[in-house]
Amino acid sequence: SNKIIAIDGYSSCGKSTLAKALAKALQYLYIDSGAMYRAVTLYFIRNAIPLEDTARVVEALDQIHIDFHSQPEATSIYLNDEDVSEEIRQMRVSDCVSEVSAIKAVRLAMVAQQQRMGRNKNIVMDGRDIGTTVFPDADLKIFMTADPKVRAERRYLELKSKGEEITLEEVFENIAHRDYIDTTRRESPLVRAVDAIVLDNTGLNEAEQLAFVLDYL
Ligand code: C5P
Repeated sequence: SNKIIAIDGYSSCGKSTLAKALAKALQYLYIDSGAMYRAVTLYFIRNAIPLEDTARVVEALDQIHIDFHSQPEATSIYLNDEDVSEEIRQMRVSDCVSEVSAIKAVRLAMVAQQQRMGRNKNIVMDGRDIGTTVFPDADLKIFMTADPKVRAERRYLELKSKGEEITLEEVFENIAHRDYIDTTRRESPLVRAVDAIVLDNTGLNEAEQLAFVLDYL
């Protein structure tokens, strides 16, 4: 039967870097669940959907179609046939993605689509609730952590390199804010699955993290 690897953890812990490396090493499909919540958030921003208006939110969700297109070296995400891979990384999306992700109707729609994507396929999926809610029977669950200052510095350098006008403090604040909302929300909050292995990557480079998981497997 097909294999599922679930990687969860706080914001900017290096989940996607490890997930991509694992998918490549094992020839699995990588799915970035956070990108899906970001795409929904972008749609809500563009269409000024009021988050507290459940009827409008549900109506908007009906209009949203999300796809991943895999090329050999990168995966792009499409929102209603438009490549939004770059735009969903902008701070204006990061600033409210956790509020959007806390809405029950949004989670129901995303979880259903994520479960369909993992049917009959070997996948690595990263996010916040993959091992707890999306795939509670995953073959391997990893819970990633890292020092918050290290996380902010990494993300700051990444955003800077893309030309985003931002300070280290703003990045630190955004990460702390998202972690707070993600861990305290009512709908499937971020929590380590009891059967997840913990990987603190503060002092580990990418090759060491990959080796740790492959050794474990
Ligand atoms: O993974 P990334 O940081 O891009 O995710 C953006 C946001 O989407 C997170 O801060 C979180 O609020 C939300 N998210 C979620 N559940 C997931 C993946 C992401 O709530 N499975």
